[in-house]
Amino acid sequence: VRYFTQPLSQLAQAAQSLQSTAAAGERVFDMLESTEMEDESGKTAKLSTIEGNVEFSNVGFSYPGSDKTVIHDFSAKANAGEKIAIVGPTGAGKTTMINLLMRFYDVSRGDIKIDGVSTNELKREDVRSQFSMVLQDTWIFNGTVRENLVYSVENVSDEKVEEASRAVGLHHFITTMPDGYDTVLNDQVSLSEGQKQQITIARAMIADKPMLILDEATSSVDTRTELNIQNAMDKLMEGRTSFIIAHRLSTIKNADLILVMKDGDIIESGTHDDLLEQGTFYAKLYNSQFEAA
Ligand code: ADP
Repeated sequence: VRYFTQPLSQLAQAAQSLQSTAAAGERVFDMLESTEMEDESGKTAKLSTIEGNVEFSNVGFSYPGSDKTVIHDFSAKANAGEKIAIVGPTGAGKTTMINLLMRFYDVSRGDIKIDGVSTNELKREDVRSQFSMVLQDTWIFNGTVRENLVYSVENVSDEKVEEASRAVGLHHFITTMPDGYDTVLNDQVSLSEGQKQQITIARAMIADKPMLILDEATSSVDTRTELNIQNAMDKLMEGRTSFIIAHRLSTIKNADLILVMKDGDIIESGTHDDLLEQGTFYAKLYNSQFEAA
């Protein structure tokens, strides 16, 4: 397997700390709300049934307290259910765009709309609750397999849990564990990196959100596991607007739209074939990194 760029440890770390907080008592958003110190009670816009159309219009951004403009003028449109691959070198601004989309930060200029509603008009929690994240640093907590799969969702039937586990290719393995779905995942249970990823993907299926953020793993797993994970990801993405910080050629090739970022700008966009035909940055990167892939 060949990879497109380096892992995005920053996003992973942010999510990790969020998720750990959640485990400690479902206080993710409370924590963010209190650190952000913004009164959002005036924000009355609501997202009702989400289709998952996302539009970025002339987004510009500098991190708070920094003079450096890290995003200059980002415009792009994702239709509901599409797969958007964001690629580009480290430091290009890929993670920052995800941070802005989920309103971990607010844009400095421009606008991001979900189904035509500016995310600035929405409460942060309303925005974030429309997304599931599958990040390369997997997060498994000390609880049963079932608890790990269901995580924060209420009233999930056993059938639904099993269906998701089957979909990601994990059900058989779980039935071989001492207490099946009731097996406690603690230090005594060793899961492979691939199995942890499968749990994370099944968790996102059960959460059943209209939009996804995927940060593809670059850690090495064997080819068979890799295929399992790819299949599971494909199933998860079906019918959901998916933003993928992509490293795998297979993902990038299958994307409805590839956004190639460099130094805070989209320098090229289109499908894989479009971009190869253009013969510029992406084509060169592709030819240098994937010739033998
Ligand atoms: P990528 O995900 O493509 O590797 P990032 O979005 O992480 O790129 O980074 C884009 C730019 O923003 C980089 O120059 C990076 O140094 C800067 N940056 C990232 N996070 C922060 C932060 N929390 N504060 C200030 N600058 C940041």
